[in-house]
Amino acid sequence: TRQAIVAANWKMNGDSALVSSMVSALASINLPSHVDVVICPSFPYLSELNQKITAANLNDAIQVGSQNVSEHDSGAYTGEVSTAILQDLAIHYVILGHSERRSLYNETSLQVAKKVHVALNAGLTPILCIGESEAERANGQTESVLSAQIQPVIDEIGINKFNDVVIAYEPVWAIGTGKTASSAMAQETHQFIRQFLAQHNEQVANKVPLLYGGSVNAANCEELFAQADIDGGLIGGASLKAEQFKTICLAA
Ligand code: 13P
Repeated sequence: TRQAIVAANWKMNGDSALVSSMVSALASINLPSHVDVVICPSFPYLSELNQKITAANLNDAIQVGSQNVSEHDSGAYTGEVSTAILQDLAIHYVILGHSERRSLYNETSLQVAKKVHVALNAGLTPILCIGESEAERANGQTESVLSAQIQPVIDEIGINKFNDVVIAYEPVWAIGTGKTASSAMAQETHQFIRQFLAQHNEQVANKVPLLYGGSVNAANCEELFAQADIDGGLIGGASLKAEQFKTICLAA
């Protein structure tokens, strides 16, 4: 069986009050032990969130992740955050290659591959995001787009290192739109991703957690998580609402 993961991507939202209320909300339920809950706030809240999780004795159940990291080690890169800084803050996960980073900040798949590499070298678990646009799906390019996003990472780190990588499939047309992929469509695409990895190494492919992201909410999570190749979710909007997020964690 694969590790189940429910990850919150707060994007450029949230504040100290949400850090506190989310930790209290999660402390009030019995988080299933087979699920890793990951919360990814924006950089300034990483420390505070980690401290609150420790204070609530939830270190085993909840991990903290950042939403990005620099591919450079250190130096004159104003505005960037390094893997060493994340290590210093005892951060365990990092979201990489989110479609908003790719489209708004021009991150290329090669750059994302380098980031995955430096993250792994620092002992961070990358959550590698991939996904096709609406036009790409309409044109039948979904599989070629996803392959082209994954292959540079395989070339950079080698397939065996995927033992320590989480992949999040997030169809761009489903992000923040309320248009979730049907569970059947999501499953079909997850199966493709796993088969693509299996062409390189079947054992590794069977072990990589594949998360679905894109308008996941308390109402649709159960059906999505019940699919054979869906091992959890990467949650945007619904991860900012403690009650919804609790329900999603309990469904995984
Ligand atoms: P929404 O859940 O708001 O659609 O966002 C998904 C996402 O981009 C998570 O990374």
